[in-house]
Amino acid sequence: MDTVTMREGIRQIFSDCGEDDNRLFVAIEALAQTQGERTYHETLSYLFAKDFSLDRAGHYWREATASIRKPDGSIHSFRAALLDYLRHKTNELTDPRIIESHELEEIRRSAITDGLTCLYNQSYFKQQLQQATELASREPGQTFSLILFDLDHFKQFNDRCGHLQGDQVLRQISDIIRSRTEDLDLPARYGGEEFAILLPDCNLEEAIQRAESIRNAVDDEVFTGQERLDSNNLTLSGGVSSYPLHGTDCGELIEAADRHLYEAKATRNSILPRLDDTRTASRHQFRNIVELRFADQEQYRSTLSADISRSGLSLKCDRSPEIGTRVELRFCYPFWPQNLEVAGTVRHIGGTSTAGAFRLGIQFDRPLDDFCHLLLPESIGSQD
Ligand code: GH3
Ligand code: MG
Ligand code: MG
Repeated sequence: MDTVTMREGIRQIFSDCGEDDNRLFVAIEALAQTQGERTYHETLSYLFAKDFSLDRAGHYWREATASIRKPDGSIHSFRAALLDYLRHKTNELTDPRIIESHELEEIRRSAITDGLTCLYNQSYFKQQLQQATELASREPGQTFSLILFDLDHFKQFNDRCGHLQGDQVLRQISDIIRSRTEDLDLPARYGGEEFAILLPDCNLEEAIQRAESIRNAVDDEVFTGQERLDSNNLTLSGGVSSYPLHGTDCGELIEAADRHLYEAKATRNSILPRLDDTRTASRHQFRNIVELRFADQEQYRSTLSADISRSGLSLKCDRSPEIGTRVELRFCYPFWPQNLEVAGTVRHIGGTSTAGAFRLGIQFDRPLDDFCHLLLPESIGSQD
């Protein structure tokens, strides 16, 4: 169970059990049976809004709750026991306040939300992006994307229609973004007239399609006052970046999306990179032998590559594995400029005209910039 799911699970337990300390205690202990010490760590963080170390959290929990069981087996208020223990037996709480949980929830919610649009705010977005990069770095083959949007000529809109009407547009745009995001996506107001979306488990092509669908919806929407713009139409531009293609830390990913957004402003009402560019321009046809080994097999087999980019390749193979299957690839000299081994994940499977052969789209775990430089010395750097 990852940290986000765990946190949500703890929140749900508290919400389901309400003031029934007995049920609450049993539910937390049951969760700890499967999830271990992290359960106590997350429970204490939830209750006291404080980040206790993993070791200490388990120790405090056991010490504080050691003698709360009544003779009939029920639990005497463990929240009071925890508070008493942390306050008097440790230095962890020196000046605590007591607050109703729904009010604390409201404070927590407003701390991560933008007041005008009710989308997440920038600091929460960055925090979640950081967490996404950490999670992805631990599991090979993971991908996710982010989109940055910026309204076009919004200063002109404000100047001609007034700030209040401008605020109304920002709310309308937020509704469009919200209606086009899924449960696990994280839409945020990134700045004044800038929006961002974090798209877990979403590759560059899918993210561009999602960004295009929002751009289209904004293009089609009739905003009161937009006829006063020189363009007669209120639009937005967007830049997209994906992990690990454009970077493996938050700074690199934001910078890449921002760079694409800046480039999109050259024409406005557009999203960069363009879908066509990612599909074709960055792929280069190289028909060569590539050694492939599926994670569940010992032997490498020879396959024929069709095209390659810095982030992946497609090849013909006689086996059709599951999407998500892990593979090892070996590029061998003299077929390739140098020997190279890289791990990857099967992301796409298609049939081919050759009977019994499948075309597999494989994403590399790390971008092969240097290797692609050797293949195509003149087309470096400009490929996304
Ligand atoms: P571009 O197409 O290059 O993005 O031009 P632009 O006019 O959108 O960009 P610029 O950065 O010059 O202006 C952004 C404007 O967004 C200026 C500011 O008045 C407006 N803005 C920022 N936050 C808010 C807000 O909360 N409400 C309203 N109504 N306007 C805002
Ligand atoms: Mg701006
Ligand atoms: Mg703008």
